[in-house]
Amino acid sequence: MVHIDVNTLEILDRITDGFFSLDLNWNFTYVNEEATRLLFRSRDDLIGKNIWAEFPEAVDLMFSEQYHKAVNEQIPVKFEAFFPPLNIWYSVRAYPSNNGLSVYFLDVTDERKIVLERKQHYQSLFEQNPDAVFSFDLNGNYLSVNPAMEELLGYTEEEFLQLSFTPLVATEDLKMTTEHYNKAVNGLTQHYETKAIHKDGHAVHVSVTNMPIIVDSNIVGVYGIAKDITKQKQTEQQLIKSEKLSAVGQLSASIAHEIRNPLTALKGFLQIMKASPENIKENYFTIMSEELARIEMITGELLMAAKPQVLQFAYENSNEIIHDVITLLQSQALIYNVTIHLTTEDTPPIYCVGNQLKQVFINLIKNGIEAMPNGGNVYVQLSRKTENEINIEIKDEGCGISKEFIDQIGLPFYTTKQKGTGLGMMTSFKIIESHNGTMNIKSKEGKGTTISIQLPVC
Ligand code: ADP
Ligand code: MG
Repeated sequence: MVHIDVNTLEILDRITDGFFSLDLNWNFTYVNEEATRLLFRSRDDLIGKNIWAEFPEAVDLMFSEQYHKAVNEQIPVKFEAFFPPLNIWYSVRAYPSNNGLSVYFLDVTDERKIVLERKQHYQSLFEQNPDAVFSFDLNGNYLSVNPAMEELLGYTEEEFLQLSFTPLVATEDLKMTTEHYNKAVNGLTQHYETKAIHKDGHAVHVSVTNMPIIVDSNIVGVYGIAKDITKQKQTEQQLIKSEKLSAVGQLSASIAHEIRNPLTALKGFLQIMKASPENIKENYFTIMSEELARIEMITGELLMAAKPQVLQFAYENSNEIIHDVITLLQSQALIYNVTIHLTTEDTPPIYCVGNQLKQVFINLIKNGIEAMPNGGNVYVQLSRKTENEINIEIKDEGCGISKEFIDQIGLPFYTTKQKGTGLGMMTSFKIIESHNGTMNIKSKEGKGTTISIQLPVC
């Protein structure tokens, strides 16, 4: 029998924790007031009885395992465990001694409920989230995925847990994606767009957030949230396509218009020739073949513009490019009573897509011509600016661009012309940029506009 003096008993009775002591045969030697309350048993009912006989359900639970551990290894133990017969969560500390075991315990059911509820809150944020949510270990292997993620990429949770993200990212995006992932592993939250590959092989555009999982101030993994933006991307693509189509459509309309004049002339000549074959003059043929050549050139230009262009970079002679463009625009300049003046220097070949640069110069010279409805001069100058750069300057004496609108130039669809597309400047900026060049606009209202372009020499 364990001897506990009266004073100690009083103290033990007053402590707020439940307390009981067991002897080496697992029999109760003392049970305090609180313990009788927590166990729903009277003191007399328990003293001298074997704990495993009185609480047989505890034999298979953590209680038995931990108490035996404390006694066998002579170490204090601390644990929380649920006791189903009483529907209570206990927080327990047990201390072994030579005489047996002292056990302090608390009812923590309410606290557990709060923790559990909070856990369920988070769980439902994960489970019910319409965005794909997932987590990785530090090596990029999946640790968890929510149902939206299963839906997004077509793999089941079990399949994901065998995988890392690497095989699920489109090859061309893998390097970039891995860099973002590594930054997240180093503690920096990342937002980016990438392409994932669905189990059935199709690409899924996703907007991703990666953030570190921090436990006890250590980064132990990475969380991911992914939004499907495939539809958005498709709409963007369609917009670009329809922009191009509308530009080409407008071009065809104006070109059809331009073709009508030479056709009318040709028809007229044929009628004259049919009516009086004896009066056919030599210069009829000259005029007719000139008109035909014009039609041929115009339709050729349209085909070139409409054709989806393969971006083939090659070494080209910038002098030739400029000369070609001016030949092409000479007739339009004449109609507008504009003279094009060209000065050139010998320049080394440039590495470019010739047709694209032509497109830029056509746009710019045409804008210059169109800015002078009453005629004037366009000055085109090609020079070697430095060892590594050539400079092309296109200067007109037209209406100019007001200060308040100069920032709008280059935005798609900004046009002040009735039949304008507002796409010329945008395309020009894009093309020059893709050639690693720069393009600047200087303009004075009522005085004229100068566009200068610098392109690198290879
Ligand atoms: P568009 O020529 O079809 O209007 P652009 O993109 O080529 O489209 O030009 C956009 C706008 O920029 C023009 O409508 C015009 O207002 C202004 N602009 C461009 N170049 C000049 C210029 N050389 N002189 C005056 N305004 C210009
Ligand atoms: Mg234009």
